[in-house]
Amino acid sequence: MSKKKYDVVVIGAGPGGYVAAIRCAQLGMSVACVDEWLNHQGKPSLGGTCLNVGCIPSKALLETSHLYALAGHDFADHGINIKSLKADIDAMMARKDKVVFELTQGIDGLFKTNKIKLTHGHARLAPGKIVNVSDRGSCDVREELQAEYIIVAAGSSPVRLERAPIMDGYVFDSAGALEFDSVPKTLGVIGAGAIGLELGSVWSRLGSEVVLLEAMDSFLPAADKQISRAAFRSFQQQGLDIRLNARLLSTAVKQRKVHVTYEDTRGAQQVKFDRLIVAVGRKPNSDLLFGDEMQIEIDEREYIHVNDYCETSVPGIYAIGDIVRGPMLAHKASEEGVMVAERIAGQKSRVNYDLIPSVIYTHPEVAWVGATEQACNAAGIPVKTGVFPLAASGRARAMGDTDGLVKIVAHEQTDRILGFHVCASQASEIIAQAVIAMEMGASAEDLALTVFAHPTLSESVHEAALSVHKRAIHIKN
Ligand code: FAD
Ligand code: AMP
Repeated sequence: MSKKKYDVVVIGAGPGGYVAAIRCAQLGMSVACVDEWLNHQGKPSLGGTCLNVGCIPSKALLETSHLYALAGHDFADHGINIKSLKADIDAMMARKDKVVFELTQGIDGLFKTNKIKLTHGHARLAPGKIVNVSDRGSCDVREELQAEYIIVAAGSSPVRLERAPIMDGYVFDSAGALEFDSVPKTLGVIGAGAIGLELGSVWSRLGSEVVLLEAMDSFLPAADKQISRAAFRSFQQQGLDIRLNARLLSTAVKQRKVHVTYEDTRGAQQVKFDRLIVAVGRKPNSDLLFGDEMQIEIDEREYIHVNDYCETSVPGIYAIGDIVRGPMLAHKASEEGVMVAERIAGQKSRVNYDLIPSVIYTHPEVAWVGATEQACNAAGIPVKTGVFPLAASGRARAMGDTDGLVKIVAHEQTDRILGFHVCASQASEIIAQAVIAMEMGASAEDLALTVFAHPTLSESVHEAALSVHKRAIHIKN
């Protein structure tokens, strides 16, 4: 078999891999990308988890279900009366599939434009910077690629629980929960992290009674406490029944119901659902990628060990995205892809890991970047904070969307913004302002001195910055 040679071979075409491949090609390298994803029709589909079963389909369903909930609960407030509201799940799913199809096809087009050689199949690394490609489940090597540099972007998969095995029609992982053919009357979700909350919200808005069982005793522990408290209140009011301190003990399907036993502070509890989603996190896809002969260091949680520049323990082999340390987020994977491509090209690029925004696309959305007030306190960093409730925003009132707040954490002496936290409608858009400001090393005063258009939700950013100095206009300081 002849070896095909490239400057770079990328393994995985998710947001880490496809972005890395495109950036390498832009920089004049010859690039091949190997990806094994197959869609429902058994056809290769680029974009990895994010485009196929993650960010994009979940946001498509969140959008549709949000509109349905507005039509059902909020339109009447606006004087818009709808007589018979009905959710057409088939149409909703078809729309979501169309969004996914168009975007995954878009990556195909970008690969062609950038002359990236795409190979469908399972990649396995061999010594000498060789990537062997086989059909999934087969050991027969169909193609052998050799490269100067290899970028591993093989992503992650849902964590499975022995106590809640996936069961057709009853127990689903996050991908399965994007494919329901009807609205379950009762739905359980194990795990109240970002994915559990988003998927729980979709089906709750469409009419399911949703219970989320979360093992930890605190809600969204990575978020600022003031924000997680506001979000918790808001979600409970919407009808999401979030039970903390609830550790799963067992599941069983009996008489067409999923029987769940969990333990909380009062002891063992039982509850029955029509369907159950397991959303307890994701694990890196580092198995089946290489053998011991490769000497690529893996940590105890199966992440490929890398330094700040995504270099593995083997020179010339990089790893990016969900398969390495750091938050499992598409934009983090993509920025690592850009950094690695540029470093291969001899540039000094880096990722600012301190400023990667986190977003949960519920309603209100929850978003943050930088340090929480609690983390600063624990580290002995003196801070002052500014808070502005959305209830005092003219635009939020006009929208009828007043839940939540914007909070800024600034250094007490230097006034530099250290953390920015939002629970609000469109928090995912608002947070970009904070990331830009913090990248530029802005102080709270810088934001306070900036003109924001009226009436906008973004004025809450301005008011929160003013509030750091106790001079907000539309609230009592
Ligand atoms: P992946 O996207 O997982 O891509 C890896 C690719 O590599 C896949 O195509 C896989 O088939 C392929 N592959 C693996 N092993 C091999 C092999 N040996 N040979 C060939 N190919 C291989 N993140 C956000 O930032 N925002 C969100 O809103 C968001 N929502 C999400 C919602 C859900 C329901 C889920 C599940 C995830 C969500 N995420 C979100 C997380 C996001 O999808 C991931 O962080 C992101 O996809 C990681 O990108 P990646 O390139 O590292 O890996
Ligand atoms: P994330 O990592 O953001 O996707 O969130 C996953 C959530 O699932 C975390 O909040 C975990 O605490 C939670 N979790 C993990 N295992 C269990 C379990 N066995 N029962 C309930 N919740 C769990």
